[in-house]
Amino acid sequence: VWEKCLLIIRQSVDPQSYQTWFAPIRPVALNTNELTIQVPHRLFYEFLEEHYIDVLKRALNHALGTAGRLQYRIKPAKQEAAAFAVAAGNERGQRAPTPSNPFVIPGMTRPRIESNLDGKYTFANFIEGDCNSLARNAAKAVADNPSNTAFNPLVIHGPVGLGKTHLLKAVGNHITAKFPQKSVLYVTTDEFTNQLVTSIGNNSTNDLVNWYQNVDVLLVDDIQQLIKRKKTQDVFFNLFNVLRHNNKAIVMTCDRPIIELDIEERLRSRFQWGLTADLSAPALETRMAILASKASANEVHIAPPVMEFICYHIQNNIRQLEGVLNNLVLHSGVNNGKEIDLNLAKQVLKNFVTEINKEVTPEVIQRTVAEYYDLEVDKLSSSTRRRHVVMARQISMFLVKQFTDQSLKAIGRLFGGRDHSTVLYSIKTVRDLMETNDEIKKDLADLERKIRAGQGDG
Ligand code: ADP
Ligand code: MG
Repeated sequence: VWEKCLLIIRQSVDPQSYQTWFAPIRPVALNTNELTIQVPHRLFYEFLEEHYIDVLKRALNHALGTAGRLQYRIKPAKQEAAAFAVAAGNERGQRAPTPSNPFVIPGMTRPRIESNLDGKYTFANFIEGDCNSLARNAAKAVADNPSNTAFNPLVIHGPVGLGKTHLLKAVGNHITAKFPQKSVLYVTTDEFTNQLVTSIGNNSTNDLVNWYQNVDVLLVDDIQQLIKRKKTQDVFFNLFNVLRHNNKAIVMTCDRPIIELDIEERLRSRFQWGLTADLSAPALETRMAILASKASANEVHIAPPVMEFICYHIQNNIRQLEGVLNNLVLHSGVNNGKEIDLNLAKQVLKNFVTEINKEVTPEVIQRTVAEYYDLEVDKLSSSTRRRHVVMARQISMFLVKQFTDQSLKAIGRLFGGRDHSTVLYSIKTVRDLMETNDEIKKDLADLERKIRAGQGDG
């Protein structure tokens, strides 16, 4: 069958490529419609998938009909297998895998690998801020020079949704592009555990571990999943030692600091040998920059005030920010390209945060300002011209304008029936004062914070 395939392939690719990419492939099994081929290396497989998938499909269709399927195996490396047997100590006497006794890497099916390192997450689309610059720069340093052992292992930790996986995959993508000869593997700790469980089931744990040693850069996501998994910890401990001994780069992520990670002490201490860097929640400006960058990647336009409104409400989780964006795009699409305005944003946000249901009302603002300046709320709508009161009134109007969508006329009514030009004048006065008067500026920042904090119980 493979011969048949090769015939087709030979017609479709140039001889050089044929020699490089197809001649080294060995057919190893045929199970009704499923042909298994062995490739020398994981990168080899990826290259095939990326560049020759159509050719392969066509060949397969020809040889096996449309139901034909293709499985890959990676040729095990004998030499390093022996090295592991020594290093691991208790693994002596193992049978070295041979090409005639190939193993299937559990989970090594096509979709798995593709999703393992898609090109989606890069350093270019990772927005840097104070919250992540250490982690980002450490990750970049590893990616630029994976053989530099100073940062080995690098552990990136932080709460969910702040970019750990993004950075981890960015390392992988960068290395894949910059050092095509290096083999990179991204795996989650869950996947690793599953592979291990499968391998135990068919007595191929050594093969699995040996195979892992072909990896030059191992990216392990979510190592908190090691907790309570004693066997996984053991196997990973051995693997870690061999990889590190061979100067292979290891980057891991964790949802908590390593000292708080409840795993075997010997493993925990090793995880601390390199560098650990944490990710914390991004400041408003960083969140806005991230949202802006994701919006432009999606080719949608969101006005800055709407963007700001969204980012005020989503503070601790960038994935949620993306969720909001996706929903906005969806909604505006469904409504025939309806503009993404504040109303749409509010509507969508309601599905993400509960507090948004309680909106900032003019009453909340008046109450907060009055309390702040130690006045009675009524004073704000009275006709008093005392300087202190006038100031508080103007600031209230300014804040009502900023926080709500009341018209100038409506705001005038809320403040004792003043006309809209008075409101306009007040807003302008406050805006000017903010530029020149640091005290007012600070007052406003305090007030905005209080108003936002108070909206939940308003
Ligand atoms: P974690 O693994 O920490 O739970 P992820 O890496 O999956 O979080 O990040 C969640 C989402 O937020 C991803 O889509 C990622 O692209 C995005 N994200 C997080 N931080 C940033 C950032 N600084 N710049 C751009 N996107 C980010
Ligand atoms: Mg993650």
